[in-house]
Amino acid sequence: MMTNTELIDLAASVVKTHRIKDFLCGDVGSAVLSRSGKVYLGVCADLGCNGFCAEQNALGSMMTDGEYRFVKVVAVWKDEQGIVHVLSPCGHCRQMMMDMDKDNLKSEVILDHDKTVTLEELLPHHTCWRKQ
Ligand SMILES: [Zn+2]
Repeated sequence: MMTNTELIDLAASVVKTHRIKDFLCGDVGSAVLSRSGKVYLGVCADLGCNGFCAEQNALGSMMTDGEYRFVKVVAVWKDEQGIVHVLSPCGHCRQMMMDMDKDNLKSEVILDHDKTVTLEELLPHHTCWRKQ
């Protein structure tokens, strides 16, 4: 099992901020440890059209590989000094993680090097649209 710090470091390794006028891409990175033990990475895209979160990108790569269940997920943002900050997933990502597979409610969301919660703790009173 990968540690929180290993996944935080992997998520931070893909952060490469790219500015397009007023928009930023790649300033948040995500790492997802899938059930099969593979790690998928992704970065965010904040664009004039609908962008996407780093978690969505990493989870999208996991789905592209045919996997829908994950063990742990993390997203990080690097500030101008290069300091890494762990981010809690937005509401859309939380819902997506659950709708991909209801068993993901028991998966871990990393909030810091020594802090982890289950997805279920981040989604009280949830409704899963994908009935299983
Ligand atoms: Zn999100």
